Amino acid sequence: MTIAPPAEGALPDPEDVQAALQPLVELLSGRRLAVLTGAGISTDSGIPDYRSPGARPRRPMTHQQFVSSERFRRHYWARNHIGWRHLQQAEPNPGHHALAAMERAGLLTGLITQNIDLLHVRAGSRHVVHLHGRYDRVLCLACGLVLSREEHDATLVALNPHWLDSLSAVADLEVAPDADVVLDSTAEFRIADCPRCGGILKPDVVFFGDNTPRDRVEEAGAIVDEAEALLVAGSSLAVMGGLRYVRRAAKAGRPVGIVNRGTTRGDDLAHLRVHVGTSEALPTLARALGA
Ligand SMILES: [Zn+2]
Repeated sequence: MTIAPPAEGALPDPEDVQAALQPLVELLSGRRLAVLTGAGISTDSGIPDYRSPGARPRRPMTHQQFVSSERFRRHYWARNHIGWRHLQQAEPNPGHHALAAMERAGLLTGLITQNIDLLHVRAGSRHVVHLHGRYDRVLCLACGLVLSREEHDATLVALNPHWLDSLSAVADLEVAPDADVVLDSTAEFRIADCPRCGGILKPDVVFFGDNTPRDRVEEAGAIVDEAEALLVAGSSLAVMGGLRYVRRAAKAGRPVGIVNRGTTRGDDLAHLRVHVGTSEALPTLARALGA
């Protein structure tokens, strides 16, 4: 697996991380924090951030395409057949571990993530809202049946016994945060419908054109409302889903601190921005805050 090179538009990290973080430590010290994370926290775990500045543009499949055409669904599942394995093999990095330690120390009201990779959960975080869903579950759009991705994988492997072998020659597969892998020929891939009702199966992931389920939006809002400050870590806030929580905290007069390599869409709402990678910044920050 290849790790994405630093995005062209990213700002250089300061040489003295501790000094760069000091104002943020002062801002957040003694306050219970809500934390919002995005793709930037998982890049050091080998999961590329397709929204970072300089990243190659891509056109993710929309919900409408997925539900309206079996051709699109074959394409999606054929790529996901490879992509989800990469997510399953990825390991949490020091940034994920630092946030889990902060929760154990009682410093957080909870964690809101835009990532579907489950690396916060694997690092030991407990109160996590997965705003955009999680890769390890599959839902039936008709009857609501929930399957594990592993269970569904057994079905897809049985239907496509030679699919994985035929890919072993493909070097340097590209993996996206939503478990897509760039792959051209997917027309032969056989997909499976719901074993209970024959309905369309879809990963439990919010696609472009989908709405985030209301209960999830509200649970994330409560994490922000219960906190005395908001820490954004590794998100450029490019999608509205994340930015709305920054607006919510700012509107309520709560301090907002951002740790991200590049600029973000929430910069003008933040009290402080620190342009340091999360793997470097969060362990230092956690220690300074008493975790
Ligand atoms: Zn069903």
